[in-house]
Amino acid sequence: MDDDRSVLMPHTFLSTLTGAFAYPVAENPTVAIMEAAYTHHNIDARYLNCEVTPEQLGDAVRGAVAMGWAGFNCSIPNKVEVIAYLDELADSARLIGAVNCVINRDGYLVGENTDGKGFVESLRTVADPVGQHFFIMGAGGAARAIAVESALAGAASITITNRDAARGQLVVDIVAKHTPASATFVPWIGDAVVPANTDIVVNATSIGLFPDSDARVPLAVDSLCAGQVVADVIHNPPMTRLLTDAAAHGCVILDGRGMLVNQARVNMFLWTGIDANGAVMRAVLDDLFGASTQPI
Ligand code: NDP
Repeated sequence: MDDDRSVLMPHTFLSTLTGAFAYPVAENPTVAIMEAAYTHHNIDARYLNCEVTPEQLGDAVRGAVAMGWAGFNCSIPNKVEVIAYLDELADSARLIGAVNCVINRDGYLVGENTDGKGFVESLRTVADPVGQHFFIMGAGGAARAIAVESALAGAASITITNRDAARGQLVVDIVAKHTPASATFVPWIGDAVVPANTDIVVNATSIGLFPDSDARVPLAVDSLCAGQVVADVIHNPPMTRLLTDAAAHGCVILDGRGMLVNQARVNMFLWTGIDANGAVMRAVLDDLFGASTQPI
């Protein structure tokens, strides 16, 4: 055999396997940004979206271990259910009570939550969370992850507002009991008013997500101040109605695409040890859903 041909051959035909176990999963774009990053960094790895219901989750997890997957993401409806199949939870995943990223260490499964870490990494492109006062709208999975990780990253205070008061109070209790940040619940009645000392405002509700892109977050926009950071978890469209209003008030805006890219970067680091290029990932999202002008 011609020696030169051997350099054109891959070293092995055994790819590293990763993916997402969720239902529905067909519209989850993480696959596109992960595969783009694997290609960019010349990593022989694949990311597969797999339709897995909670009833199928145990078999899927055992299958992933049997096939030597490096790890997998869990999304709706499996983020809580998956905990029953894991050997260990990272600290923030335990506090958040949900896992979106599982790492397979030779059959020993560790559960992480990278949503909040992705948010904090994205936030760091515009502001240091240390000592900041946060006002978070919403108390679902995304809000809880953002509240816990922001508090662990050094936030001075977390104020939560939510329609369902019991859900909001639960997040406040977790932050107050397990982190150094102070935490307060404010009932969400009518248009929310941003507390006077707020540095960072976060929409962590699903309001504004495509196709309801015109939906308005019930917020008194006149209570926003110039220079405040206003962040949205919505990644599609990136420029939500809230961010448009906030920009008009002189706020520093941060869209949900940065959070999505950065949680994917954290996943990839946990699975492969590679610090992925966020700009490559963001460009894929911009191609898929329309361009934006935000930092990573
Ligand atoms: P959940 O279903 O767990 O929570 C939804 C939250 O939105 C609840 O607090 C709910 O309030 C609130 N909400 C929904 N509709 C309204 C409304 N009309 N008025 C007031 N509050 C409302 O969802 P998640 O937390 O998992 O996800 C929230 C959003 O975050 C989704 O759009 C998701 O796509 C996005 N997300 C983005 C990520 C990213 O990387 N950019 C990562 C993860 C999530 P209540 O409790 O009162 O019902």
